[in-house]
Amino acid sequence: MRRVSVFGSTGSIGESTLDLIARRSDLKVAVLTGGRNIARLAEQARVHGAELAVTAYEECYRDLKEALADTETAVAAGPAAIAEAGSRPADWVMSAIVGAAGLAPGFAALSQGKILALANKESLVTAGPLLMAEARTHGATVLPVDSEHSAVFQALVGEDVTAVEKVILTASGGGLRDWPLERLALAGVADAAAHPNWSMGQRITIDSASMFNKAMEVIEAHEFFGLAPAQIEVLVHPQSMVHALVGFCDGALMAHLGAPDMRHPIGYALNWPDRADLPVARLDLATVARLDFAIPDPRRYPALGLAQQIMATGGAAGAVFNAAKECALDQFIAGQIRFTDMAAVVADTLENFAARADIGKAPGTLADVLDIDAEARALAEKTGRARNRSASGAV
Ligand code: NDP
Repeated sequence: MRRVSVFGSTGSIGESTLDLIARRSDLKVAVLTGGRNIARLAEQARVHGAELAVTAYEECYRDLKEALADTETAVAAGPAAIAEAGSRPADWVMSAIVGAAGLAPGFAALSQGKILALANKESLVTAGPLLMAEARTHGATVLPVDSEHSAVFQALVGEDVTAVEKVILTASGGGLRDWPLERLALAGVADAAAHPNWSMGQRITIDSASMFNKAMEVIEAHEFFGLAPAQIEVLVHPQSMVHALVGFCDGALMAHLGAPDMRHPIGYALNWPDRADLPVARLDLATVARLDFAIPDPRRYPALGLAQQIMATGGAAGAVFNAAKECALDQFIAGQIRFTDMAAVVADTLENFAARADIGKAPGTLADVLDIDAEARALAEKTGRARNRSASGAV
């Protein structure tokens, strides 16, 4: 029996992962973790006979304990318990907690020297070099779960990465793709959280509309595949069927196509290095008929320019970028800043951080990354509040 753990099991990626696990009889669920959705976490633990269920929130412990009182599932709560659960023996670990909270359990899982299926892109953006070094130290394998990176990874099987000229990541353009530029500032949470093609968690869907998600993915590709910033391009592809393309030095351009269903990249990581049947729709290209591609407009998607800045700076810039982005997103969701303010808050935070500390200095440990994360969040909060005040003053 292969032991599997799912961190962030109550989320969109977590649910898709468990959907695939439920179809298999050769997998034993070791750990499931969630946040506030205790009813769902308890139900999942019951259905899958999990050994341990952990909620990130200590105040939710009693509810989870009660909900699983008549089962053999052990229960724990709090961020430390989640991190500790990462080192519980498992052959395959899905890292699908949203945000920087996913870092600690991912790092802990690497110490087992097995497979870490990485959906939590924040891990690579904030601590890419550290994470990859930790994997090498323990002989662990990190497999990308983001659909674009899984697509690149699959296109590179059997290839020499030095023969890669460029990688093209596609982007749907998000829910506001066709909005007039001058109206973007007026977009509400519901507008930005409506994705044309993918069904995902609220945060990543809004990040798709702003292309902060794609900016993160560009940095993720830089860190994971060791590509130079100039080798990574982004194209808007409204149909979301071509997930990524890899261009080689002989002029070949290999594309990965598939229906927009995260169970494909998750299933690929679950079955790796083999392929196995997956319950995803097959593409009928004759029905699709056309595929469109366009260069993203930098005025609509300033986050992409910030990604270039982050890669050029290196060091702590990724951790500052991610923390500021998470904070700006919280402020947008809470109605404190406008949609278009998010990029401004992140840019200002990067500038403020650079004025106080050496942003190009690489964090040496996970604790350093988390310190930078905390400092950048505090700066971003202040920046967002100032922006909010000046916006209300202007009305
Ligand atoms: P969701 O918001 O749907 O789910 C997030 C999960 O994390 C839930 O289980 C949630 O628990 C849990 N969680 C939230 N806050 C915390 C916390 N502070 N500590 C521990 N657990 C927490 O996110 P997605 O599934 O959409 O995304 C997960 C990750 O995968 C993200 O990094 C995202 O960028 C990445 N990703 C997602 C894709 C997608 O299609 N959704 C595609 C590619 C990458 P609860 O709900 O119980 O509160």
